[in-house]
Amino acid sequence: MTKKTLLIFTAIFSLTSSFAQPDRWQQKVKYVMDIDMNVQTNRLTGTQKLDYWNNSPDTLYKVFYHLYFNAFQPGSMMDNRSRRQGTIYSGSDRNGNALGDWDSRVRDRIQNLKPDEIGYQKILSLKMNGRAQKFEVLETVLEVQLDKPIPPRSKVVFDMEFEAQVPLQIRRSGRDNPNTGVRYSMSQWYPKLCEYDYEGWHPTPYVGREFYGVWGDYDVNISIDKNYILGGTGYLQNASQIGYGYEASGTKVNRPAGDKLTWKFTAPNVHDFMWAADPEFKHLSRKVRNDLTLHLLYRPTTGNPATWEKILDDAQKAQPFIEKTFGPYAYKQYSFIHGGDGGMEYPMATLLASPGAWLHEWMHSWYQGMMATNESLYAWMDEGFTSYADTRVSAFLKNNDTSFAQKGSYQSYFSLVKSNKEEPLTTHADHFNTNAAYSPAAYSKGAVFLEQLGYITGAATRDKILLDYYWLWRFKHPNAADFIRVSEKASGLKLDWYKEYFVNTIKTINYAFDSLWEEGGKTNIRLKRIGLMPMPIDFQITFKDGSRELHYIPLDLMYGAKPAENDITRKVYPAWKWTNEKYIIQTDRKLGDISVAEIDPSQRMADTERQNNRIDLQ
Ligand SMILES: [Zn+2]
Repeated sequence: MTKKTLLIFTAIFSLTSSFAQPDRWQQKVKYVMDIDMNVQTNRLTGTQKLDYWNNSPDTLYKVFYHLYFNAFQPGSMMDNRSRRQGTIYSGSDRNGNALGDWDSRVRDRIQNLKPDEIGYQKILSLKMNGRAQKFEVLETVLEVQLDKPIPPRSKVVFDMEFEAQVPLQIRRSGRDNPNTGVRYSMSQWYPKLCEYDYEGWHPTPYVGREFYGVWGDYDVNISIDKNYILGGTGYLQNASQIGYGYEASGTKVNRPAGDKLTWKFTAPNVHDFMWAADPEFKHLSRKVRNDLTLHLLYRPTTGNPATWEKILDDAQKAQPFIEKTFGPYAYKQYSFIHGGDGGMEYPMATLLASPGAWLHEWMHSWYQGMMATNESLYAWMDEGFTSYADTRVSAFLKNNDTSFAQKGSYQSYFSLVKSNKEEPLTTHADHFNTNAAYSPAAYSKGAVFLEQLGYITGAATRDKILLDYYWLWRFKHPNAADFIRVSEKASGLKLDWYKEYFVNTIKTINYAFDSLWEEGGKTNIRLKRIGLMPMPIDFQITFKDGSRELHYIPLDLMYGAKPAENDITRKVYPAWKWTNEKYIIQTDRKLGDISVAEIDPSQRMADTERQNNRIDLQ
């Protein structure tokens, strides 16, 4: 084989191998739901036909569903947690006010709900393959004891009749939002099958945070008063009967007779379905590429039209950069919808209380929408990767701002370390002791994880990792180890240690100068590791004549070195053994020539004490 054919062979091989998805099994669903919504009583009735493919090698004796609306009842687990029962939430601010409450948006609001304001989901009947099944409602989880087990690699059909009352909006979903006035924010609104994966069932009681769902297809038909305008997950199938800006331009809208309209949505290959409705929604849409339309639905009476409508301009400007950096958006539509509280991500859509979070929520279409990590277990791969992405895209929108865009996440992580409230990123999202520990861990330390990965592997390799991750794990449920394996394959470095330290523990990084001295016209510089987490070291010496030298010490655990970044020549040393506390590097120049010497001038290494990283010999 000639060198040339070898090159071609390698190129083809690497192309195909990077697109081959891992063969881990996953369950599959197909929901067909017919929903009748009563806007006077705020109740709905529904039928749900659920095709369920058990692709696992296991026999299933039970199944579980989520009944999220049941959280919005006095005495529920979410109510209890929100009212700060127990002692782990103690702590106070400088004025002596209690801090560390579970969620300031909830507090005692659930406790004060009246019977017509609570939420519920009631299961009226449930059959599997036509036979009635025994079930038990355990607040927000439905446990079903199957009369016959579901064998491995087989399919069953569940038929359910249910009714629900939409709670007054407290957290994410609900009606009559007190701030935005939006009538219906319909997330977590239907009985949703829990995911069963290689770790078994995930029947997580709904106390506050994060979701996980089964990949599949949804057909959802929603009948609601004619004057309501809807937006949400999926593609509207009967736009010519609906209108409201969904119809193809120039087509005549033919609404059927009657007080209600039935909105027919279909959503292929998603893991949840959300919708929102309000008679005052203004609906705008924009085609940003051939097969992708962005929708905007907001209430002009409670939202500033200029800031809301700017979302479409900014999104259109950002879209090519986003897809080039993070991979193509895989669906034909995305909807920015006024509703919920704060911002919350769903497949093909987001609920936004105000326009500010539009980019963050859209970037969730990559981290959780398409790469559907179990958010409860890997909140940092969902919120952290999304924070990293939205910061990077907003730097692009600010005319390619080249300053250290992720700096805010580092500062937030450093504050978390100092607070002594830090818990490992492996903590289940619902089980963090405080919000004060959860938010900076999931959002900031998760973002630092990716930026710092660029320090370890080189930024260009990190960018390749992001795209490889996309192509390998799109439409699956990647976990932390999966991400690390993608990173290892793309970089040629061992990176398990990075996860073990930065994700599994709260050990921190702290490198420092130890000493420097001249010897035979050369200068020796001794560095020391103070923190418990080892890292490779970039070291820069600036001389009084303005010239610079970059020195690089790989970490032994990497079994390799990152390539030179930005074509800067560097001196590469033998690896620093992780057990050793000190390491000596050398420059051929005299001590008196040195102006400044600094560990990691890029500041991408999350060194918790930077003041000992630099000496100034001016
Ligand atoms: Zn988020």
